[in-house]
Amino acid sequence: MRELVVLGTASQVPTRHRNHNGYLLRWDDEVILFDPGEGTQRQMLLAGQAVTPLKRICVTHFHGDHSLGLPGILQRVSLDRVPHPVAVHYPAGGQEFYDRLRHATSYWDNAEIVPLPVSAGFAVETSAGRLTALPLRHSIEAYGYRLTEPDSRRMLPALLAQHGISGPAVGDLQRTGRLGGVTLDQVSTVRPGQSFAFVMDTGLCDNVYALADRVDMLVIESTFLAEDAAMAAQVGHLTAGQAAAVARESGVRTLVLTHFSQRYQDPSRFLEEARKEFTGPIVIAEDLLRVPVPPRLLSQG
Ligand SMILES: [Zn+2]
Ligand SMILES: [Zn+2]
Repeated sequence: MRELVVLGTASQVPTRHRNHNGYLLRWDDEVILFDPGEGTQRQMLLAGQAVTPLKRICVTHFHGDHSLGLPGILQRVSLDRVPHPVAVHYPAGGQEFYDRLRHATSYWDNAEIVPLPVSAGFAVETSAGRLTALPLRHSIEAYGYRLTEPDSRRMLPALLAQHGISGPAVGDLQRTGRLGGVTLDQVSTVRPGQSFAFVMDTGLCDNVYALADRVDMLVIESTFLAEDAAMAAQVGHLTAGQAAAVARESGVRTLVLTHFSQRYQDPSRFLEEARKEFTGPIVIAEDLLRVPVPPRLLSQG
């Protein structure tokens, strides 16, 4: 199953209706927590999500609305004795913040927490594909993340049968790409990999587009509305219209807008402004919402 579980959607400060940020990506058995803001531990409880399946945590930057929940989550990982290592990614320049959050209070360390800081050229292979990060344009060092599943090939039983290939021979063909006169291309089709991007606090920059390029799901900050575009540019944030234009220009499939400023009361205004720029599915994130990753595109070739 592949889905995004939204834990919190508020920028800067929580509101009555929005917790600080927090996003759980469930991608088969790779479960990644992005930007745990304050209160994320309880939001996971309310969303029915245990910490045990958690494989990694990705922090975009060390502003409180993206990281104040880290101490609680890490302690919970220990308390629940999560049996596998949990990787934590964060901007390398924020090491002092990580160190403080990692040991904010006293507890028994009963889990293996593996700090893997992010800097230029970061990439790591996960069970879900390649996780990469690119620097964003914000008031402090910040990175956006992207998960890219490689393309693979899907064997077509009817064509295999036509060529009389069955049993262990199928595996041989998959491994070597050829069996006698039959090539892999003749009996299989491309199974396009899926991708996901997570872009938080940033002004518009090339890396926003690079991260978002043709992803199946883009989760992107949409702090402001157009009336506050000048301020957004000044403080390194996006408007709903800008975020949606990125989605259009990058060929995104499903757009998830979040990280809303508490200055606006009516969330439908974000949708209105985004709709002018992007015709695909738009989700205005709310706490505890679950958003499925869209079904895999049909095979090509
Ligand atoms: Zn923020
Ligand atoms: Zn920030």
